[in-house]
Amino acid sequence: MNFTIKGKTINQLEEFVIKNGFPKYRAQQIYNWMYKHGTFDIRSMKNISNDLKSFLIDNTIINTLTLHDKSECDNTVKFLFKTQTNQFIESVSMIEDDKHTICLSSQVGCSVDCDFCATGKMGFISNLSAGEIIDQLLFIKNTINNPITNIVFMGMGEPFLNYNNVINAAKLMNDDNGLNFGANRITISTAGIIPKINKFIDDKLKFNLAISLNASNDETRNKLMPINKKWPIKDLIKVAKKFNENNRNNITFEYVLIDTINDTHQDAKQLAKLLKNSGCKLNIIPFNSIGNEYSRPSENSINSFLKIIHEEHEGFRILVRWSKGVDINAGCGQLATKGLK
Ligand code: SF4
Repeated sequence: MNFTIKGKTINQLEEFVIKNGFPKYRAQQIYNWMYKHGTFDIRSMKNISNDLKSFLIDNTIINTLTLHDKSECDNTVKFLFKTQTNQFIESVSMIEDDKHTICLSSQVGCSVDCDFCATGKMGFISNLSAGEIIDQLLFIKNTINNPITNIVFMGMGEPFLNYNNVINAAKLMNDDNGLNFGANRITISTAGIIPKINKFIDDKLKFNLAISLNASNDETRNKLMPINKKWPIKDLIKVAKKFNENNRNNITFEYVLIDTINDTHQDAKQLAKLLKNSGCKLNIIPFNSIGNEYSRPSENSINSFLKIIHEEHEGFRILVRWSKGVDINAGCGQLATKGLK
C-alpha cells in the first residue's frame, strides 16, 4: 500500500487509522511522534502498540527524503536531499546572531524561468509533497541544535505553483498541537503569481508574503522574469496594496541588485516612486554571484543606489541585506544549485 504518513494532517491520519481497523486516538499519537518529537523511525514511537507499529512499518512511508550531501560555510549549512523518485532538492540553514533561518524548496526545478536563476534553467520537474517540504524542516531541526526562528519558502521552485502542498505544509508547521511555529515566522516568497496571491488573501492566511520584484520597470523585469509579461509590475503593486489592507504584516518586495541591470540612479528613483505610500517593505539584496552572466554591483554603485532610495522613499520601509556568499534570505533564485543536475 505504502501510504505516506509524513505531511498528513490529523484528520487524514485519523481517517487512515480508522480505515485500517485501529482506534482513532492512535492518529494523534502518530501525529505527535512525527511533528512534536520529529521521530523518523516508527520503532521508536514508544506508546504505540506493537501491532500498529508492524502495520505502519509494512504499509507506510514516514521518511520522504534522504540526505545526499551537506556543506558548511561560516554559520550556513546547505543540505542536498534526494527524494524517493531520485530527484535532488536543496535546503539551507543560516544562523546569524540569535536568528536561525531555514530556507525550504517547494518544487524540483521551476517553470518560471527567471533569467538569473539556476533552478529556472532546470525547467519544471515535479512538485514536492507536503511531506517532502516538512521533512526538510524536520531534518534540519534534528541536525542543528539552535532552535529555528524563521522559515522561508525561497529555495527551489515557485511556491504558489505548488499552492496546496505548500500551504498544507505551512499549516502543519504552524499547528500549535504540532510544530507550533508562529505564522509570522513563516514567509512565502513568490515571483508574482497574482491569481494565487488573491487566493492567499481570500483564504485569510496569516503567513508573511514576499514578492520578488527585481526591477523598477516592465522592460527590465520582462527580461529578468518573463512571468512579468503575464503579471506586470502595476498589477503586483495593486495586489500588494490589497494584501496590506487585509493583513497585519505588510507585504515585502525583494529587489536583488544586479550590476548594470537594475542598479542605476534612474532605477532607484523609479522604485521609490512605484512603492510610494504603499506601506510595503522593500528588501534590497546585492546579488550573490552564482556563476552566470550576472554579477554583484561594486560597493560604490550599491551605496549610491541606496543613498537615492533612502532620500526618495516615502511611505514604505527599506531593509538592506549585505551578506556575501550564500544568503538564504537573498530571495528566490539566489540559491546556487551546483551539483543538482
Ligand atoms: S527565481 Fe524562483 S521563481 Fe524564478 S526560476 Fe528561480 S526558483 Fe523559479
